[in-house]
Amino acid sequence: MPELPEVEVVRRGLEDHMVGHTIVSATVLHPRAARNQLGGGPEIEANIAGLRVSAAKRRGKFLWLELIDAPSGETRPDLGLLVHLGMSGQMLIKEPDAPISPHLRAKVELDNGDEVWFVDQRTFGYWWLGDLVDGVPERVSHIATDVLDESADFSAIARNLKSRKSEIKRLLLNQEIVSGIGNIYADEMLWQAKIHPLQRADRLSLARLEELLQAGKDVMSKALAQGGTSFDALYVNVDGDSGYFALSLNAYAQTGEPCGRCGTLIIRESFMNRGSHYCPNCQKRR
Ligand SMILES: [Zn+2]
Repeated sequence: MPELPEVEVVRRGLEDHMVGHTIVSATVLHPRAARNQLGGGPEIEANIAGLRVSAAKRRGKFLWLELIDAPSGETRPDLGLLVHLGMSGQMLIKEPDAPISPHLRAKVELDNGDEVWFVDQRTFGYWWLGDLVDGVPERVSHIATDVLDESADFSAIARNLKSRKSEIKRLLLNQEIVSGIGNIYADEMLWQAKIHPLQRADRLSLARLEELLQAGKDVMSKALAQGGTSFDALYVNVDGDSGYFALSLNAYAQTGEPCGRCGTLIIRESFMNRGSHYCPNCQKRR
């Protein structure tokens, strides 16, 4: 599943190709792509045509296009097209005569002739067109800031984490505490900060919790610089290219490999229906 760095790579691509352009038309080809829209695909198709894309924004794993009703002279966006990639969603820039993908779920046509395709094999992703409230789509107003957000307050997030008698990894995956972190980057940041995934958060000091958030920021910044992590060829940027941060992973999917710090073999334990990968020597539970 794309996490923060992967979604940010896609956001940057959409920013390059869409901002300043007007959407000529939209077509929703699969009802699941508009399942969160009250009026379904037809509502998106009817309301998005003629709007101009003024920005591409992101919070955690959610990205959205800010839309302006340009012909009316309006300059302040009050509508956004929210894009959630889900497990396998791709946003691809295509020329109009590109061969159709069997997993094409929705598309928009831009005033320069380019098309932007939403291709989603497993159909967990969706589009949602709706109001922006304080600049954020209503649907994601409950999502916390992420560690790459300039306005993220690490000491406040650390205090929030410390107030909870729960395993640290479970909290890192809670998008209402800190957003954008999934299984890959949770394991990587915990390895980096030498914290056991099942360590209770209230037993860590505020300083350690802030170190952990900083580790997350560092790891995700590095992943971003390498185009994100592609495991199953489903995650790609808007040009269809994979990222190569998978080569730099220290814990996630490294079961049986020597720890990059101490040489102890990385182990995998089941957690929340998935796996936690960690070094049993560097990451001791306290
Ligand atoms: Zn180690």
